[in-house]
Amino acid sequence: MSYDHVFASDEKIGSLLDQSVTRHFMSTVTDQKGKIVAEYVWIGGTGHDLRSKGRTLDKMPSKPSDLPTWNYDGSSTGQAPGHDSEVYMVPRAIFKDPFRGGDNILVMTDTYEPPRLLPDGTITPLIPLPTNTRAACAETMEKVKAEEPWFGIEQEYTLLNSMTRWPLGWPRGGFPTGQGPYYCSAGAGLSIARDICEVHYRLCLYSGVNISGINGEVLPSQWEYQVGPCTGIDMGDHLWMSRYIMHRVGELYNVMITFDPKPIPGDWNGSGGHTNYSTKATRAPGGWDVIQEHCKKLEKRHAVHIAAYGEGNERRLTGKHETSGMNDFSWGVANRGCSIRVGRMVPIEKCGYYEDRRPASNLDPYVVTRLLVESTLLM
Ligand code: ADP
Ligand code: MN
Ligand code: MN
Ligand code: MN
Ligand code: MN
Repeated sequence: MSYDHVFASDEKIGSLLDQSVTRHFMSTVTDQKGKIVAEYVWIGGTGHDLRSKGRTLDKMPSKPSDLPTWNYDGSSTGQAPGHDSEVYMVPRAIFKDPFRGGDNILVMTDTYEPPRLLPDGTITPLIPLPTNTRAACAETMEKVKAEEPWFGIEQEYTLLNSMTRWPLGWPRGGFPTGQGPYYCSAGAGLSIARDICEVHYRLCLYSGVNISGINGEVLPSQWEYQVGPCTGIDMGDHLWMSRYIMHRVGELYNVMITFDPKPIPGDWNGSGGHTNYSTKATRAPGGWDVIQEHCKKLEKRHAVHIAAYGEGNERRLTGKHETSGMNDFSWGVANRGCSIRVGRMVPIEKCGYYEDRRPASNLDPYVVTRLLVESTLLM
């Protein structure tokens, strides 16, 4: 059988925009007359769509609270009825904008019902929207800050041809040769569209996202990057901003990024969002005992965690393809078929961190980090 056709089927997607014209103006007309542009990013009504809009500011803020709150039309994002459509955005984290460059910034925000003026002249407090999972996470992280929870999330994703919605580099409507040669590979036809992964990596480093590594994955056209270790609420802010940057990079190449946990059904690997976790106590001498205590607590709350670990995760957690089954909790040293994997060095060094392998690639990091802290430190 010949596979010569296999990676030759993606037509180059033409663009009506000549990007060399864009590059010309963006590189020669650079004086913003002291103004900066802030692109405000928020999570939309599905709980995973990322939206943004930009505004000009007179000066660089030094912290999020220096930035004005802002609003948008929630009826266009599935977050408010049309007759009362204003949604409030509160700036929470500032990153450099790698797309506009210069002093321009990206701002991670969270979303609220607008404050209302009461008859007695007082103003109601901001109420988080149902899709604002950050507010509860921030509150929980505040309670446990003495424990210094650290997280590192492994973000897997798959590249799709934006026209056919089929993985990039796969034959149209067909399949490449089976898995095996793609993971951490080098070479045409094996490592597909590395440029996207590399550009994203550089842009995250530039922007201040705490990205810690990248690798090619098992499914052809699937990649991974890691963000962390991040302390507390930073994990969610950094991971969401890394995803925003990823979608923007995909836009430049006309390649769609999917965080779906099982983009191709059948005997093909799904995408995970392994969440690595440690606390001051697990990192200190005696931490191995603390980790074992954590695992016992996590076992009791398995159902609560599984229900909140990403939409469609049941398509991925089959017990095959380096996953554990959905219904059973298990933990083990160096075992990639477990719910929780403890690194091989932990029992030797008697301290360290562990990996929750259950979250799907479309996990909400605000939810997953909050649950880990609640179950292990607050129960
Ligand atoms: P794997 O071997 O499962 O593929 P990776 O190297 O992809 O692991 O990811 C490991 C993640 O763990 C990284 O995001 C890293 O930042 C994070 N990490 C490292 N040390 C700690 C720690 N002490 N606590 C929490 N996370 C950590
Ligand atoms: Mn308008
Ligand atoms: Mn990994
Ligand atoms: Mn991986
Ligand atoms: Mn992992």
